[in-house]
Amino acid sequence: MGVVKNVPTESVRAALDMGLHHLGENRVQEAASRIESLGRDAAHWHMVGHLQRNKVGRAVELFDLIHSVDSAELAQALARRARSVGGSIAVLIEVNVGGEPSKFGVTPEALDPLAETVASLEGLSLEGLMTVAPPAPEPEQARPWYASLRELRERAERRIGRPMPQLSMGMSGDFEVAIEEGATMVRVGTTIFGSRN
Ligand SMILES: *Cc1c(COP(=O)(O)O)cnc(C)c1O
Repeated sequence: MGVVKNVPTESVRAALDMGLHHLGENRVQEAASRIESLGRDAAHWHMVGHLQRNKVGRAVELFDLIHSVDSAELAQALARRARSVGGSIAVLIEVNVGGEPSKFGVTPEALDPLAETVASLEGLSLEGLMTVAPPAPEPEQARPWYASLRELRERAERRIGRPMPQLSMGMSGDFEVAIEEGATMVRVGTTIFGSRN
């Protein structure tokens, strides 16, 4: 997936022309204007940033997959909204694998009960897990975090009794390592689009 936060729309259009059809945004408002100029059907739209509960309605309209569910309250709000428009929304649970206080995401300890709640909600389709690994100078340093997300997925699958196929992990600095550890989606910004201001 190309992460296009702060990327000029002309560059995004060029990437679409070259065949990049999964785009990630981290803010609802920016995604809304992007989708307005490029079209809802131009790509699969991913919400990779923290989602505030008051933006849930817009998010359900705009995105194909929300990577950042990290509380039962947010899950319930998304489910209610999706049901009210007669549909369902695909979601991932964001896990704070490094337990960093500055990061969003559920702790590894709290994952299983949240997965059970999300899986039980009509209007949500729980497809997997997402993480942002702690920053590190060497890609290899991310490997244990990505391996741990894969193991957490297996544990949560056993708990809910059904598969969660997606693992969203890996960014510009370490996506190869993430793929080796089982990523099904990597979220790449600067390596494709250059550095952001
Ligand atoms: C910005 C961002 C990325 C992409 O980061 P790069 O290092 O530019 O590839 C991936 N995931 C999330 C959640 C982001 O906010």
